[in-house]
Amino acid sequence: RIKTYRNFPMVPRVVFGRGSFSQLNEILLPKRKNADAPFIFLVDDFFEDKDFVSRIPLMFNDQVIFISADEEPKTAQVDALVSRIKEQFDESPSGIIGIGGGTLLDLAKAVAILLNNTGLAKDYQGWDLVSRPAVYHVGIPTISGTGAEVSRTTVLLGPEKKLGINSDHTTYDQVILDPDLAVTVPKEQWFYTGMDCFIHCVESLTGSYLNAFSQSYGEKAMELCKEVFLGDIPEDESRDKLMMASWHGGMSIAYSQVGIAHAMSYGLSYLLGTKHGIGNCLVFQHLEEYYPEGVALFRQMQEKHQIKLPKGVCSNLTQDDFDIMVNVSLGMEPLWENALGEDWKKIMTPERLQALYQKI
Ligand code: NAD
Ligand code: ZN
Repeated sequence: RIKTYRNFPMVPRVVFGRGSFSQLNEILLPKRKNADAPFIFLVDDFFEDKDFVSRIPLMFNDQVIFISADEEPKTAQVDALVSRIKEQFDESPSGIIGIGGGTLLDLAKAVAILLNNTGLAKDYQGWDLVSRPAVYHVGIPTISGTGAEVSRTTVLLGPEKKLGINSDHTTYDQVILDPDLAVTVPKEQWFYTGMDCFIHCVESLTGSYLNAFSQSYGEKAMELCKEVFLGDIPEDESRDKLMMASWHGGMSIAYSQVGIAHAMSYGLSYLLGTKHGIGNCLVFQHLEEYYPEGVALFRQMQEKHQIKLPKGVCSNLTQDDFDIMVNVSLGMEPLWENALGEDWKKIMTPERLQALYQKI
């Protein structure tokens, strides 16, 4: 059998630099279809009452929609946004601009896809189910770590599953990396979302799917994470570096896969609504058997920044609850295969997985 390789889409245009958000206007101008085709800005509602709002370059009937990131994005939320935009405007938008963390970046990608594809968001959860290109979409991260700004997926909680819309049309057309936008991120959240990146690196670099492409990005991201979380560098430099670590970490997993922490974190999130960053940390701290070096580094980073994780998260769960989490988690087959190899089912039994959850 001839081996085939993935033909992987990348973000075709990116700006990097402190204050580069100010260039958004000139970037959008040539993409404006006409005065009736608005740009829709989906913005994390943290910014709602901040001066930042006045820097959003609005023209004609452009619209800003503030969205809370308290809960991770849902398929029904995407459908509601798409209906709202279609009802309000006669013309299809000139573009969708997502401004925020992984939550807003994923929502904006999904809305851009669903504006140009019929049906509901849940119909596209899976791999390569999107047939028509998305509306032009721009991603502007305001917190670093998820890699959602580079990835070809948008992770959504649907009625039946938490699963990405993985497609060549998901990837952003333009990204603006302005590290200054992350100045206001609270310390704990900085750590949790930053650790998402660190864990992407560990899972990619130790996985059986590793290849030179992924390794080259993963090693760079890991080096940057060490500087950011264990080094002593000025804060502005640290924000620059974490933004690039997120980018490289995302590139690394795109051509390989994540592993156990992500598989387990999906289970937690599905049952308890635990958010991705903190969920990964809660799980990862107990994975020293599988990622000894990674977990040792994680503990050093946690110590240095005095981050205390909640305890007893799974202590009041019923056997039914554990069964649900274990099933969701073990359903992420490629992640387990990447982490433990082809015989992963013999290594990670439901009992063993439940015992890991019980430590959290
Ligand atoms: P988030 O977007 O949920 O934001 C976390 C918190 O930080 C929120 O309260 C938000 O309001 C706040 N925040 C963001 N920017 C801020 C700023 N500049 N100042 C102050 N507060 C700010 O967090 P996240 O960790 O970036 O994203 C998690 C989401 O990303 C999950 O839904 C997860 O599924 C998704 N994700 C997607 C991918 C992908 O490839 N598509 C990869 C990993 C994770
Ligand atoms: Zn992640």
